[in-house]
Amino acid sequence: MRMTEYYRKWAIGPLRDYEACREYAHTIGAMRNTRPGMSRNHYLDHVDAISFIYDWKGRENIYISIAAYNPEKEIKGYPYLYFDFDCPENPELAISKGLEFARSVKNRYAAHPVTYLSGFKGLGVIIPLKTYVDWDTYTALWRTLIQPYNYLGKLIDTNVLDRRRLHRIPYTYNIKKGVRRLSRLISLNRQIIRPGEFDWDNYEPLDPGQVAIYRIKAELPLPRPIYLGGSKHRMKKLLPRKIEDLANTDSVPPCIRNIIDTMIKSGDIDHYARLVLVWYLKWTGFTVDNVVDFYRRYAKDYNERITRYQVEYAFGLKGSRKNYLMPSCRWMKEHGLCLECGWDRNPITYTYSKALVNEEIKELFYRIVRSKAIHV
Ligand code: SF4
Repeated sequence: MRMTEYYRKWAIGPLRDYEACREYAHTIGAMRNTRPGMSRNHYLDHVDAISFIYDWKGRENIYISIAAYNPEKEIKGYPYLYFDFDCPENPELAISKGLEFARSVKNRYAAHPVTYLSGFKGLGVIIPLKTYVDWDTYTALWRTLIQPYNYLGKLIDTNVLDRRRLHRIPYTYNIKKGVRRLSRLISLNRQIIRPGEFDWDNYEPLDPGQVAIYRIKAELPLPRPIYLGGSKHRMKKLLPRKIEDLANTDSVPPCIRNIIDTMIKSGDIDHYARLVLVWYLKWTGFTVDNVVDFYRRYAKDYNERITRYQVEYAFGLKGSRKNYLMPSCRWMKEHGLCLECGWDRNPITYTYSKALVNEEIKELFYRIVRSKAIHV
């Protein structure tokens, strides 16, 4: 009875939608290690889902869709966001980074993610939502939340960004090559949560309206106006001199605004997001001291010596003394740091085209670009 109620909670989801169907799948031959990759899918309401789960639990892998459907198999919406932290070589790393991400979402938005061990090599993170969202909103929320913690795209399975994605139901078995392990719910501080203790009420949902989703088209710089006399700069505004203010400035691209905003609110963005921010600040005229002061104000793990060294290194003043450019949008995309605003050149030229930036710095940037024959 206890398990039946538990599985029903997953079927109806955090919005307690008893009318909804979910797509379920079971593998074929996982215990005998035959026909890898084969599975069978079904659309089930919460009543049929229970018998489906009992039929296959322990014999096959069982999955549930991230989407909720109506009985005509049309998507009603998405009741939660799903993230899969996965590292076959180092499952512990995936688990600790997944929990770190979940804790940061809690700090930033006061939303409480559900976390579960997948059984073998990673962690599932589910962020319940206050309302159903459509697919466009789902992807925008997903990207915005994960971007400052993407670890260069290495630990996050980006294949989960699929409108028909399914995920393992916690407290079913993960079966691989004939070996099975139970997937278990855990708390953000790694305590096991038993099925009878689970309830969506224990997890504060995320209000999608709280997350700044950067509306891409509106963000893009307009085509350059033709100036009939006067300065071509007169249409541009000066960039704010306070780093915090950049998070609300539309001449700063969404990828950078999101990193700054996350740093201010949670204080624990990942190393690469920090590095990208340093390069952006360097090429928009901020000094080493400005950047170090910013990290001193917000980074939870702040260490004066290490931070100063890393910032000076990124500015080309220490170590290899290379004058690092701001990475291109392509690089940002390849490393999971792009929020797909459509600029597709270089985040720094986004700002150069919209705001007044120190001319010498800008000139230097373009000079290096020309010398390397890079297209920006
Ligand atoms: S396209 Fe470029 S500027 Fe726009 S979000 Fe992606 S990396 Fe940033």
